[in-house]
Amino acid sequence: MTHERYEDSHLYRLRHSAAHLMAQAITEMYPGARLAIGPPIENGFYYDIDFPEPVSENELKGIENRMRELAKLNQPIERKVAASRDEAKRVIMEECTLGQGEAVAHYKLELLDMVPEGEEISFYDQQATDKKGELRRFIDLCRGPHIESTGEIKHFKLMSLAGAYWRGDVKQKQLTRIYGTAFETKEDLELYLHNLEEAKKRDHRKLGRELGLFMFSERVGQGLPLWLPKGAALRDALCDFLKEEQTRRGYEGVVTPNIANAKLYEKSGHLLTYRDKMFPFMEDEEKETFVLKPMNCPFHIEIYSSSLRSYRDLPVRLAEFGTVYRYEQSGELAGMLRVRGFTQDDAHLFVRPDQLLAEFKGVVDLMMAVLKKLGLNEYRVRVGTKEPSSDKYVGHDENWQLAESAIKQACDELGLEYEVSPGDAAFYGPKLDLIIKDALGREWQMGTVQVDYNLPERFDLEYIGEDSKPHRPIMIHRAPFGSLERMIGLLTEQYAGAFPFWLAPVQVAILPIADRHVEYAKHVAEQLQGFPSQVVAEDEQVAFATETVDSPGLRVSIDGSRQTLGKKIREAQRAKVPFMMIVGDNDAEAGTVGVRDREEGDLGAMSLTEFVARIRPML
Ligand SMILES: [Zn+2]
Ligand SMILES: [Zn+2]
Repeated sequence: MTHERYEDSHLYRLRHSAAHLMAQAITEMYPGARLAIGPPIENGFYYDIDFPEPVSENELKGIENRMRELAKLNQPIERKVAASRDEAKRVIMEECTLGQGEAVAHYKLELLDMVPEGEEISFYDQQATDKKGELRRFIDLCRGPHIESTGEIKHFKLMSLAGAYWRGDVKQKQLTRIYGTAFETKEDLELYLHNLEEAKKRDHRKLGRELGLFMFSERVGQGLPLWLPKGAALRDALCDFLKEEQTRRGYEGVVTPNIANAKLYEKSGHLLTYRDKMFPFMEDEEKETFVLKPMNCPFHIEIYSSSLRSYRDLPVRLAEFGTVYRYEQSGELAGMLRVRGFTQDDAHLFVRPDQLLAEFKGVVDLMMAVLKKLGLNEYRVRVGTKEPSSDKYVGHDENWQLAESAIKQACDELGLEYEVSPGDAAFYGPKLDLIIKDALGREWQMGTVQVDYNLPERFDLEYIGEDSKPHRPIMIHRAPFGSLERMIGLLTEQYAGAFPFWLAPVQVAILPIADRHVEYAKHVAEQLQGFPSQVVAEDEQVAFATETVDSPGLRVSIDGSRQTLGKKIREAQRAKVPFMMIVGDNDAEAGTVGVRDREEGDLGAMSLTEFVARIRPML
């Protein structure tokens, strides 16, 4: 499948023309404003401008109105080529500056100097006469391309202001960058603006705090998340699910330390290729050097090679929720999406060449099962292959071909569409990446599977073949979630904190109406948690009518505060707990609970057995 590149699309040209339209409005409204550059970007466009006086966000509306007026004039946009450099200079000084000359031509003249000798120098010219008979004109030094006429620019909005250095150089003057966006239809623009608002509400850093999932502390250090009880419960639920899937699929769990002798990473080659992502080294008195683990692979390799393996033992699938540390630049840290310490749902498969296809397919199948369970149903699959004429890769061509065709065949056999991305392979082998599209249409790169011929070679890994001779296994690295931190960041935004029942940190909030119902609430909680109290004293004044419930072991909370029921319900609602159970006098007597669904509202009174039957399919 081939997609039209954004750079080749009509939308891209439309946005570029919107940037010019904005510049036209600004040159009319702010005489003396000096224009720098104004390209289209991912979600819109910007123009960098050196204003004579500082401008504020409040002025954007006025500029936008002027743009609408100019758009209505439906100025045709014409491309003009300067006959010579001198001619181009004249156009800039006289026409582009509306006669203001040198005073405002500064940046454009510098840009002209940057056009390589021999290259065509083009201008884009838009003009029309307005109702009063005045000529409105804007001409800009520009490579283009553009749309036909400014009348096409209908659905746009100016978004924000920012500072930007001329040519991205901090030693140069700081200009004002005005960001805007434009779309082909009203619906597209509205959806984009709506999604932006929604993204703010769903920001996992904000929700993580509000819902008590995770936090950061300056005293602990940047990029080092602290998981709060509810976040830890969420994390456990994710891990338990994956562990169960993996056990069923023949994985074995291992546990390895957080630090290792630097020699391990010297052997693996990471000291050479990964040094800048590793934390500063630790040295002890005997001058042994230790490093914080940036990757789990070498540990699993040591476990593999700790015993003699026969062809019958393969594949060996070693899995670990392994915490690794990477020294990301502080400017690159972003909530849970980029941190310095995180836990990978890592596993390494050691396979024979004849097992590569089946094992790769097994891994991709597991990844699909994970996405389905998480409700992430929109995704792309990207197969990263070797860049044909590059020498940055290690390993034999025939191995690369074997691996690349195994990956493609695995996808084909699973009926997965994929795009091939030459040059996206790791230096040691081809890979498959999952790019997930979330509820707001944003893309997140998550899970990955990589084929590796390099590490088995470096560590001289072997298995004894049917021919009684040693052979080299192939390694597969894989992490369906990518990391727990990133995945929980994504899921928090995907569900806006209202996690599916099986994943919710608190699945049921029990809300006693009055103090005298707290005892019964505790009884209900124990039943749902799956460990009803064994001993009930004979003289206990409250005897509850519920039979013992066969519960799958739910995560429950009791709101024993003295607040009104209304307040308790609102709080549980705000915490996005899937079910509330309201318990009062009648319930304690009848052995029932009043169930409330966070979406559907009141479901009425039911027994715990009925409730458990209702939620079982959601687990
Ligand atoms: Zn331009
Ligand atoms: Zn690995």
